[in-house]
Amino acid sequence: MDIRLGNGFDVHRFGPGDHVWLCGVKIPHNRSLQGHSDADVGMHAVTDAIYGALGMGDIGQHFPPSDPQWKGAASHIFLTHACDLARTQGFTIGNADCTLICEHPKIGPHAAEMKQEMARIMQIEPDRISVKATTSERLGFTGRGEGIAAIATAALIRS
Ligand code: MG
Repeated sequence: MDIRLGNGFDVHRFGPGDHVWLCGVKIPHNRSLQGHSDADVGMHAVTDAIYGALGMGDIGQHFPPSDPQWKGAASHIFLTHACDLARTQGFTIGNADCTLICEHPKIGPHAAEMKQEMARIMQIEPDRISVKATTSERLGFTGRGEGIAAIATAALIRS
């Protein structure tokens, strides 16, 4: 059995707005995350974890921010592309685990929906997805509420 692990890390800064996209769920908030795409930092971290497990670069290589066609893009396009690449290479997605790091918004009330949405996009069972959150004890840029960070791990299996 061939098992590959990958990790992903991403940060997006807050700017003006009234909602954030996190792991495929739109959450009302007093600011929005800024980015070339919809700035779904959690989905980007999971996507990069899959590219990492494949040894096939990162989101920026597959969807260059310099390319205007990806401006405002829904991040499920990136995640779907990574999962399709994995399947094309003969892998199934074993699991993915994502940790969001922020003080606000509170993730707990949305975690179950995030899990469902990520599983739907990745075409795997929800019990193979974990979405959790932590604060940074008010330290650093996430603690000051300047942005949100996300880290993720993914496992790919080829038998
Ligand atoms: Mg990103």
